Amino acid sequence: MTQIIDGKAISKKILYEIQLEIDKIVEKHEYKPGLAVVLLGEDPASQIYVKKKVETCEKIGFYSEAYFLSSETTQKELLLLIDELNSEPSIHGILVQLPLPKHLNEKEIISAISVEKDVDVFNPINQAKLLLSDKNCLKPCTPAGIMELLKRYEIPIEGQHVVIVGRSNIVGKPLSLMMLAENATVTICHSKTKNLGEITKQADILIAAVGKEHIIKADMVKENAVIIDVGTNRNSEGKLTGDVDYKGV
Ligand code: NAP
Repeated sequence: MTQIIDGKAISKKILYEIQLEIDKIVEKHEYKPGLAVVLLGEDPASQIYVKKKVETCEKIGFYSEAYFLSSETTQKELLLLIDELNSEPSIHGILVQLPLPKHLNEKEIISAISVEKDVDVFNPINQAKLLLSDKNCLKPCTPAGIMELLKRYEIPIEGQHVVIVGRSNIVGKPLSLMMLAENATVTICHSKTKNLGEITKQADILIAAVGKEHIIKADMVKENAVIIDVGTNRNSEGKLTGDVDYKGV
């Protein structure tokens, strides 16, 4: 029997749980957790994405600030803003939307976000904590979401063969570390992997994080495998599609 992992339903539940947590924080400490989101440039998709984050924050009781800056913003100006947010007591988390315009030194910018407020886990110190399976480390959101989906559906990870297609710094690599920390056997595939289908077919849990429509087809998946499709692609008709051929699989 096929079971669908309902991400939307889980997300609703989680937002409600966070709302209750925030109510408790506000009651006990009389402050709201605060998130600052920084976006450079006019990319409409990123603007919508950032606005949605702010809306969600407000809905569940966070304090939030959004900074929509020009794509001409200089390194110095952005570093100054990050510095201010780092020392702003009403802000507990800072998200700087990547990629940044080409004239900026991304490495320097993300390293400037204070370790405690680096909720995207871009700062190299937080990445090192993740590598070392530090229990107190912040978790990057997309891999954390994947782990949460599996947990909420009580899908065992220990001893399972997890195949991750994609090795980006925001999804594939951190996810592989989080899976290892949960005692999975992990294989990572990427654009130079030979015989992709033969490897994905071995997966008990298959994670597709590529960004190519329907790269994972039915004959690349074994019976009863658990599949998480991270991909968000626009097809030729402008529709949102995943990396997995959903119908076929
Ligand atoms: P990315 O930085 O572009 O990385 C893509 C990865 O896929 C790379 O490691 C690349 O290999 C690999 N790849 C490309 N072609 C391949 C092929 N033919 N066979 C096997 N591997 C291949 O992308 P990303 O930021 O990780 O995002 C991946 C997808 O997830 C995108 O669709 C993105 O929009 C989506 N995403 C969704 C969420 C969410 O919350 N739902 C969050 C983040 C990202 P190389 O390393 O060799 O180039």
